[in-house]
Amino acid sequence: MAKYIFVTGGVVSSLGKGIISASIGKLLQARGYKITIQKFDPYINIDPGTLNPYEHGECYVTVDGMETDLDLGHYERFTGIQTTRENSMTTGRIYKSVIDKERRGDYLGKTIQVVPHITDEIKQCVKHLGETGQYDFVITEIGGTIGDIESAPFLEAIRQLKWELGRDAVSVHLTYVPYLRAADELKTKPTQHSVKEMLSNGIQPDVLVLRTEKHLDDHMRMKVAGFCNVDLECVIQSEDLPSIYEVPVNMQRQGLDSAIMRKMGLPVGETPELGPWRHFLELRGSATEVVRIGLVGKYDLQDAYKSINESLSHAATYHHRKVQITFVNSEFLTRENLEEKLQPMDGLVICPGFGQRGTEGKILAVEYARTHDVPCFGICLGMQMMVIEFARNVLGLADANSSEMDPHTPHNVIDIMEDQKTISNMGGTMRLGAYDCQLREGSRVASIYGTNAVRERHRHRYEFNNSYIEQYEAKGMQCVGRHPQAGLVEIVEIPTLRWFVGTQFHPEYQSTVLHPHPLFMSFIQAAIQK
Ligand code: GLN
Repeated sequence: MAKYIFVTGGVVSSLGKGIISASIGKLLQARGYKITIQKFDPYINIDPGTLNPYEHGECYVTVDGMETDLDLGHYERFTGIQTTRENSMTTGRIYKSVIDKERRGDYLGKTIQVVPHITDEIKQCVKHLGETGQYDFVITEIGGTIGDIESAPFLEAIRQLKWELGRDAVSVHLTYVPYLRAADELKTKPTQHSVKEMLSNGIQPDVLVLRTEKHLDDHMRMKVAGFCNVDLECVIQSEDLPSIYEVPVNMQRQGLDSAIMRKMGLPVGETPELGPWRHFLELRGSATEVVRIGLVGKYDLQDAYKSINESLSHAATYHHRKVQITFVNSEFLTRENLEEKLQPMDGLVICPGFGQRGTEGKILAVEYARTHDVPCFGICLGMQMMVIEFARNVLGLADANSSEMDPHTPHNVIDIMEDQKTISNMGGTMRLGAYDCQLREGSRVASIYGTNAVRERHRHRYEFNNSYIEQYEAKGMQCVGRHPQAGLVEIVEIPTLRWFVGTQFHPEYQSTVLHPHPLFMSFIQAAIQK
């Protein structure tokens, strides 16, 4: 029977619940357990697919095509598991499911209420994963901060599950211990209040993870333990670290996993080695030389291109380099400042995106990369920009564009897919999730991947317009990756350049700490060689 771990957060948001959940998963996996990690987001959107990245950071896409919270990216990168639509829930989806059931008549005769109907639905989504029989542990992270009105049904569901499951469920609560410079003191009062809030919802946290900028001494931990009814060994501190990837090791050193296991009555045994993980950290720590990558995009926000940043960093680490990522805002790129902004870079990533804003700057950056032979990686919209730039400047098709940016372009080299034309709903209707891609025999991408058939994740509405394929190939841009049945162009490449590859899919969703993505590995290598 599966066991359940609930991760909640108090005091403030952005404490890194996702990293702690992923670390717990990683540490339990190292002990030989099968795990999965699930996230509940308390907003009303069905999924984050329609959210602006400024609101919620990157949208992460699962293999089965669910648009999800970026924390699922951490889960996959830390643990190597593949998440699915069952791993991501929102209040909106929970309500929709209950309302659909009500309309179908499933509850005939009953008044539908938050308790028990919404809470039962939440419990069902948690237990459903456990009942698949595939996992020893289901880790459930609750988004938001406890005390928010939106979190209440989730806390009630956890309370009931803890009551029903007894020792098979534990609550891990993350809080913040602020440091007051003027008083030179760490303050535990917010933590005490946060635990009180949990208690007022009927949940006694079993384990506390205290986020802090300064080391907490034993006296402090003892105080927290005493005031919050938690065993001393269950008061863990999570100090700020130079890298999120050091968190699992730090949590293991303090016995987060063993504390959880003891609470569940499981034998603790020896502490596992985490060999390959430590090897990665050593490489990261010992790298001195830098590889400079320009990220050409329009969202000036760290979280907007999370998975790309992490993929670059994984690849650079295995090449014994530190990656220095410089955000280049494509909205402000002009012919005049192009050289100044891009010349210092060893490689350029042309970022994904939606809508017209910043696209002309991306096209300029592509032109610069192509004409100066700078390693260049175009991802999704970035690949489309490569295709447009080539049309305008090599094929001589002035005004070539994507019909997303200019519906009346005379040369719609990127065009909306036929089956997209009749779609009226925006949410969840793009080409989403993993699709097969056939690589051209003997092409560079085939040798990079070491195979001719791959599967990669998509998130877009527009495609390369196949009526232009011959013109492109005749002039040197090759369509080296195609969907085997539909013939859609998934990868373009200019093989005569050092490294110039555009992918219609998002390889960044598949790079993990222990398995860096081959395209990112090869791109970073080219950047280093430059
Ligand atoms: N806006 C483009 C499309 O819908 C690209 C999307 C993306 O970069 N994810 O096709």
